[in-house]
Amino acid sequence: MQEVKKPSKTPLIFYCILTAVILLLLNATLFPALMGSRVTDVTYDVFMSMTQDKQIDQVQIEDERILFSDKEGNLYETTVTQDPERTQRLYEAGATFEEIDSQPSLLTSILLTWVLPLLPFILIGVFINRKMSKAVKSGDGMMFGMNGGSGAKMYVPSSTGIRFADVAGEDEAKELLSEIVDFLHDPGKYREIGAVLPKGALLVGPPGTGKTLLAKAVAGEANVPFFSIAGSEFVEMFVGRGAAKVRDLFRQANEKAPCIVFIDEIDTIGKKRDGQIGGNDEREQTLNQLLTEMDGFDGSKGVVVLAATNRPDSLDPALLRPGRFDRRIPVELPDLQGRIAILKVHAKKIRLADNVDFEPIAKTAAGASGAELANIVNEAALRAVRDGRKFATQEDLQESVEVVIAGYQKKSRVLSDQEKKIVAYHEIGHALVAALQSHSAPVQKITIIPRTSGALGYTLQVDDGDHFLMSKEELLNKICTFTGGRAAEELVFHSVTTGASNDIEQATKLARSMVSRFGMSDEFGMVAFETMNNQYLGGDASLSCSPETQTKLDQKVVALVEEQRQKAMELLKTNESKLHRLADYLYTQETITGEQFMNMLNQQ
Ligand code: ADP
Ligand code: MG
Ligand code: ZN
Repeated sequence: MQEVKKPSKTPLIFYCILTAVILLLLNATLFPALMGSRVTDVTYDVFMSMTQDKQIDQVQIEDERILFSDKEGNLYETTVTQDPERTQRLYEAGATFEEIDSQPSLLTSILLTWVLPLLPFILIGVFINRKMSKAVKSGDGMMFGMNGGSGAKMYVPSSTGIRFADVAGEDEAKELLSEIVDFLHDPGKYREIGAVLPKGALLVGPPGTGKTLLAKAVAGEANVPFFSIAGSEFVEMFVGRGAAKVRDLFRQANEKAPCIVFIDEIDTIGKKRDGQIGGNDEREQTLNQLLTEMDGFDGSKGVVVLAATNRPDSLDPALLRPGRFDRRIPVELPDLQGRIAILKVHAKKIRLADNVDFEPIAKTAAGASGAELANIVNEAALRAVRDGRKFATQEDLQESVEVVIAGYQKKSRVLSDQEKKIVAYHEIGHALVAALQSHSAPVQKITIIPRTSGALGYTLQVDDGDHFLMSKEELLNKICTFTGGRAAEELVFHSVTTGASNDIEQATKLARSMVSRFGMSDEFGMVAFETMNNQYLGGDASLSCSPETQTKLDQKVVALVEEQRQKAMELLKTNESKLHRLADYLYTQETITGEQFMNMLNQQ
């Protein structure tokens, strides 16, 4: 029979506090009363007078106290004093010498000292247990991670509402995925010819390039059930729970076939297994289960496993072998056309001026991911609202690109005149060096308005179109441009500031890559001393060479950067009058466009 329980809304913490209060009260009042109430302390003269009045029934004389009872059975206690005739008097008064049991009975004391204090905790336990079984029954509320289900969210056809049309660019990825969609629509066509579709496809690419979005679009297009779960949801507190979830997920998927299972951020469970002692047992068990399940199901039935990750190099090789995730779909950062397309897709969601040209925006946002571009469009709309306009303009978009690149303008930060002057010379130094070299991207904007990213000013260079290859000259010019800021400071103020730290970092990184990865130094030739890890997430490099080579490498890098710094210095020295004029202009204007800059530069 089902007990009818009112859902209790009282929070657990309330019960804990209540218990603590009850315990304290019991300790202060009831326990001592129960345990000590039987013996009354009296003075020796009371004992003597009671002896005289023949009121004493039993007596027990110990080393330090005398315990005695009256005729009614009340217990008394008094201290022992020197009294040699005491025994004689007691005997005459008719007292019996017997052992008196002043302690409460064993059972009562056990009850009082052990069971009663535990009672509240037992009650809390029962309460939690009930609440938990209720949560498991109703399948929600994962209290203490005790949920039994796989936790996969199932999308019924088109419930996401996202189609391939919502994903701009990424044509190759869409093409590969639409084959999977087609298979799910019409498996017969493929079966006829004997083709087996890949059981799994792995979407790899940097964060924010639309991997999750693509998977949702597949769900929207395919018209089949779509199970979506994040890799992290498999990771549980208890060993074995993750594996159980995987089993459950694939059981459900098999029942619903044809269908798609999407595991987002699969690197959380798919990391390479290593033989280390104390490795992550739970994760490995989950991965093993996943491997088994992917082997186990029948490919022709139409369960397709999609997974996304931005750390493909950390995945276990067993996961990538044919028969599991054998199709690898790169989802790369968008190129210029892709960026324009993504901007357009997201611009549909906001009100925009008619004459907006997306191309310059996309050019400025070189290297931006889809997510960043979506953010840029939204920032533009927000900026329009802030200014009280009904639609966003070209300018809004342009400004929001810079917000995403460099952060908001920091109006509160007031630079001193001297600092402002230094920053102006620094930025013009960059721009001038860039403009005076032939293989540099044109300067689009120079500003000395501080940004929230910490930049006190910056020079925006925008490449014309996409760049996939960089020549040695271009790289060298880039390093030269990086050093230009500091060189200008040195030339004009004969002192240096901390403002160049970011330039220095980038110049060093470039120079190091040239020497250790691109084979662009005469001394080392075409040897790679560095390998890139994690190319999609920042890309840190790990060095693999002898300490001697490393020393030489470092020297080479220093020499390379120094050479470029001197080149920048020369360029600035020969154009010093222009440097002063431009820096002055920037100082008064705070922001100048590339056009203004070029005009002033070309004036004699
Ligand atoms: P991830 O690759 O990290 O999984 P998401 O798929 O979650 O990236 O993308 C985040 C957001 O970026 C999407 O919700 C979408 O608004 C935007 N986005 C990314 N790529 C594209 C694209 N190719 N077309 C349109 N929007 C995109
Ligand atoms: Mg994602
Ligand atoms: Zn700089």
